[in-house]
Amino acid sequence: MSASRKANGWTGLGYKTITFENHWKEYTKLPNAHFVNSCTAALHLAVELLKIDRDWNRSDEIITTPLTFVSTNHVILQAGLKPIFADVDRYLCLDPESVLERITPRTRAIMFMGHGGNSGQLSRMIQIAREKGLAIILDAAHMAGTCIGGRHVGYDVDAAAFSFHSVKNVPTADGGMISFLDPDLAEKARKMSWLGISKDTFSRTKSEEAYKWMYDVEEIGWKYHGNSVMAALGIVALRYLSQDNAARGLLAHWYRRDLEGEVGLIPVPEDCWSSRLLFQVMVDRRDDLMAHLNKDGIFPGVHYRLNTDYPMYSYGKGTCPHAERASSRLISLPLHLLMGRQDVERVTTSIKDFLSGRMRDKIH
Ligand SMILES: *Cc1c(COP(=O)(O)O)cnc(C)c1O
Repeated sequence: MSASRKANGWTGLGYKTITFENHWKEYTKLPNAHFVNSCTAALHLAVELLKIDRDWNRSDEIITTPLTFVSTNHVILQAGLKPIFADVDRYLCLDPESVLERITPRTRAIMFMGHGGNSGQLSRMIQIAREKGLAIILDAAHMAGTCIGGRHVGYDVDAAAFSFHSVKNVPTADGGMISFLDPDLAEKARKMSWLGISKDTFSRTKSEEAYKWMYDVEEIGWKYHGNSVMAALGIVALRYLSQDNAARGLLAHWYRRDLEGEVGLIPVPEDCWSSRLLFQVMVDRRDDLMAHLNKDGIFPGVHYRLNTDYPMYSYGKGTCPHAERASSRLISLPLHLLMGRQDVERVTTSIKDFLSGRMRDKIH
């Protein structure tokens, strides 16, 4: 390896990861950011580091949503804590009233997931967390670009975790970012995401060439740090984030306008500064509509199957009626950057055919 190449750092922890972190901080104005290999890793670090810092015990509780990707809740179990499920509001985010009902002497934190890019009642949730002395963790996997009152989300929660998975708003292939309110935890996240090793490989090699194997391992950390290949993709994707989210907003606007007044279909409301990862509607005969759209060559998604349907969370079954009802009626309509006005119209026409019960000629 030549000296000039080495000066650029390694692909593991290196100059591209730092550049990406700096660009991300510039974009979001978040005070710190650590690039990791997924949002799941970021969430796990958040729960584990807060647990150590605040002396949480086994079986202490974190209030969370059942209407999410399982990462949100798996990390709570992995840290030996107990997810307690609260219900969602019309934005499909945690409902503060339901959260208040779930708080017990064992509650330590609230895990808020910004569904589809919505921030819902996050500000109220943060206020409740502060009043009750609870930590608040933001699963911001859907929220790259989501703002509240002109500020990017994440600055006023104890930890915020973003996803740069290929299907999210800043696509790399896999990656995530973690921000902590407490600068000491932000510092610790770097060490803990590299197995608890005390310095990064590059600075160690540079300053102590002769003793590069002589590093200290201070804690039992994880292999969670991001790499420069993903960071390079992220740096470019981030340049287009505002523009991409605006394009998503336009598609959502067209959907909303086309479907306005359709009986039997309710669009999920969106915040005005949502990243608009998803455009979702609720319908009664969801599975039938899904089959109908599939026949027309349209393939929507469902976000999500209720986590309490899975064995490790089944103790929460029946405790969140709104989330349950939503989960059985939700459809995420196709929303991506290769779509245009006509594509939206094709989807909405097919939906209207279904809703009006019109029999269409299926012989093509
Ligand atoms: C995608 C997603 C995650 C996990 O993100 P990864 O980067 O794939 O680990 C976590 N929570 C929610 C709500 C998600 O949609």
